[in-house]
Amino acid sequence: MSRPNQVEISASALAHNLAVARRAAPHARVMGAIKANAYGHGAALVATLLAEAGIDAFALASIEEAEELQSLQLRPRCTALAGPFSAGEIPLAAAHGHRLVLQNFAQVAWLRESRWQEPLEVFVKFDSGMHRLGFSHDELAQVFAQLRAGVGGPLRILGLLSHLARADTPEDPYNAEQIRAFHEACTTFGPHTAGEHSLPNSAAILALPGAITPWIRPGLLLYGLSPLHARSAADLDLRPALRWQSEIIAVRRLRAGDWLGYGASWQSPRDCRVGVIACGYGDGLDRRLGLQEAPVRVKGQPSHLLGRISMDLAFVALDGIAADIGDPVQILGGPELPLEDCAEQLGTISYEIGTRIAQRVPRLRV
Ligand code: PLP
Repeated sequence: MSRPNQVEISASALAHNLAVARRAAPHARVMGAIKANAYGHGAALVATLLAEAGIDAFALASIEEAEELQSLQLRPRCTALAGPFSAGEIPLAAAHGHRLVLQNFAQVAWLRESRWQEPLEVFVKFDSGMHRLGFSHDELAQVFAQLRAGVGGPLRILGLLSHLARADTPEDPYNAEQIRAFHEACTTFGPHTAGEHSLPNSAAILALPGAITPWIRPGLLLYGLSPLHARSAADLDLRPALRWQSEIIAVRRLRAGDWLGYGASWQSPRDCRVGVIACGYGDGLDRRLGLQEAPVRVKGQPSHLLGRISMDLAFVALDGIAADIGDPVQILGGPELPLEDCAEQLGTISYEIGTRIAQRVPRLRV
């Protein structure tokens, strides 16, 4: 029997959030960022649901991640967005229709040395100010000259691609600088490409209309998470797609003064009932959340974690809640337990909260 511990992914929430992105950029095509296991939501499931909702393409971290979706035979094509690729992966990318992002001269050289048959589509990464990956304006001239000099198979250069460093604070003037630099590069080098440029992430799609390009690349907003510091998901008409659910598998009756769990670190101030749930840090539940008594829902009623979280188990308070073995416990997600709040509580970002949910937790469509 499997442990009662699952991440539920709402198909309707994903479709709704995709529609929000389309509303913000009606003429753009949408490349959904589903790298890192779809920000922890489950790449195969999310890819399937977004394909059903009509998304145009996917952004993955690597060819390896793109290959993991290959058996699903989905229509939207994958772009290996962030990662390096090897020379050996070029024919594979061409054969399977994966798009590459060229971000250094070694990769340009590999395109000249490799041989492939099917058309290969690439973006060229422009460093508009993040200074992480990509070519400078001056280097782009060399890149296009080298590509024009001949490559080892049919090549289609879709457009320039760049990333904004501070889009989550849209009023920051650095955004305008990056957007201006990107548009300048597109004006200069666009004629060497198909003009299918790509700049904005979720925050820019919602708050920086000047950053909209023929391809938009939302990640966070598709999952119904707010990409803007100052705005909540509800405020932006986004619907959280993830709900992490477990169940009570034991109920303990403690007397005042009894100690609970590893380290006997929590002492009951009074006679009380505590539920044990089938979820622990081995599932990605951060140990600090137990000590911080983070909120959960037991049978839909507000409650909280307590004591030390174990590898496979955690404790929930049952004060005033008539709950028993088999009753549901919502650990995280949905509008009730926003990932954004959990991230704030742990001093991190919502991207990290989702990606921490372990592989062993099944992701289910609801
Ligand atoms: N584009 C690139 C290059 C990224 O690295 C990411 C995410 O990390 C995205 C787009 C999507 O960003 P967001 O989830 O903020 O929409």
